Amino acid sequence: MSSELPAYQLKFSAKRRSIQLKIQSGQLWVCAPTGCDLQFIQQLIQQKKDWIHKHLSQQQQYTEAGWLEQRQIPFFDDKLQLKIVQDSVNQFSLDGDCLWLQLSSRNKAQSQQKWIEKLVSEFYLQQAQLWFEQQVQQEQQRMSLQSREVRVCNFKAKWGSCDSSGVLSFNWRLLMAPQWVAQYVVVHELAHLVYMNHSKSFWTLVSKFNSDAAKARLWLKQNQHWMQL
Ligand SMILES: [Zn+2]
Repeated sequence: MSSELPAYQLKFSAKRRSIQLKIQSGQLWVCAPTGCDLQFIQQLIQQKKDWIHKHLSQQQQYTEAGWLEQRQIPFFDDKLQLKIVQDSVNQFSLDGDCLWLQLSSRNKAQSQQKWIEKLVSEFYLQQAQLWFEQQVQQEQQRMSLQSREVRVCNFKAKWGSCDSSGVLSFNWRLLMAPQWVAQYVVVHELAHLVYMNHSKSFWTLVSKFNSDAAKARLWLKQNQHWMQL
């Protein structure tokens, strides 16, 4: 058994009372109170080694190789295998946990990769539209609210939005997250139909209908870096 410690970034803070370990952007971060004994920190890392390795390898697997090269893409709590076949048209179809991509033999060789990306994005957008519509329907009934329209967007820096006319928009990348995380975002945006801000009342409403809110926000913060094609 190897006793080698994983590499880590160390940050001292005078405000801290205890040591915190977190995995972010594929790295282990250690936040410790100023003056904390280095040997003590290393002991703690040693004790938590299994937890660290598990989470590091999960994140590294995602960050190191692109989905498309790995021929598998995340889809909520599962992974879909990409099966690429030559055909007469460019289209996709889902069969169990396989996403079939048919590529036209008339595509130029150098545009094959572009077509794969295009079909995979179309697949996510289509699935996201279906899932969010159905989810909003269900949650708004539970919350006694009424939205006007559900849209799926390719947001770069947000997970969802709600405008004053009651249109809810969601980032398709949420389909790469576990379902309970995407469910939280639905409740969050619906709650904006009542409060157009992030006030205390807003968060009270969110947590009334979703007990995973804090956990889901943390999950998104820690995982957003790999959630793209
Ligand atoms: Zn918000």
